[in-house]
Amino acid sequence: MKWIGSLAFLLALATEAFPQDTYREERANMVKYQIENRGVSDKATLAAMRNVQRHLFVPESYRRQAYNDGPLPIGYGQTISQPYIVACMTEVIEPKSGFKVLEIGTGSGYQAAVLAEIVDEVYTVEIVKELGEQAKGRLKKLGYSNVQVKAGDGYYGWEEHGPYDAIIVTAATEYIPPPLVKQLKPGGKMVIPVGSPFLVQTLMLVEKTGNKIKTTSLFPVRFVPFTREGD
Ligand code: SAH
Repeated sequence: MKWIGSLAFLLALATEAFPQDTYREERANMVKYQIENRGVSDKATLAAMRNVQRHLFVPESYRRQAYNDGPLPIGYGQTISQPYIVACMTEVIEPKSGFKVLEIGTGSGYQAAVLAEIVDEVYTVEIVKELGEQAKGRLKKLGYSNVQVKAGDGYYGWEEHGPYDAIIVTAATEYIPPPLVKQLKPGGKMVIPVGSPFLVQTLMLVEKTGNKIKTTSLFPVRFVPFTREGD
């Protein structure tokens, strides 16, 4: 019977070295039913949503709900956005390899990881220091070496790496921060929820053509508020 023990030992070793992605099927279903069926069609976005292991971006107690059709708490009063919203925001900026993208509101790091699957460089700013640090560690562990995380007030963007091909803001602002518009490349796109905190906001697409700005309302959304240092 000794060989059974050895077999079990080898199996345990293999499981340790190559942890199974037990949520692959749930994730494929999430993409199919919550995202593709609702009209998201960009191939790169769908592939990224299929690849990123969302369950590793939520607190352990919420892991089994990671592929549900809604936002989830991530601590500090913040949330990881609903998968469909992440997909819409990713698709609308038309991400491509070669792109440099700025995200405001790192949170869990999930949206940054989705972007990092597609574009070359992601810069992300988080105002809650602890969340920023957790996200940084998580992204590093998962091998997303093309994401840089900074703690700070994202109102000012991240000027030293700009201008950006696209900007994604994942907290609701009452108006579009001018420094972000400034850090957008001509031809660039920004997606941002605008409106009163705690009420329904509008997801806006901001397009910069030359020095002109065009804004388009997309659809109603609900995001956590954009806070300022000292709030
Ligand atoms: N993109 C995140 C969702 C985060 S929720 C994800 O994929 O998990 C919004 C985040 O924006 C929160 O973590 C909140 O702390 C952060 N935030 C709010 N105001 C901010 C500001 N002024 N600058 C940077 N981050 C901010």
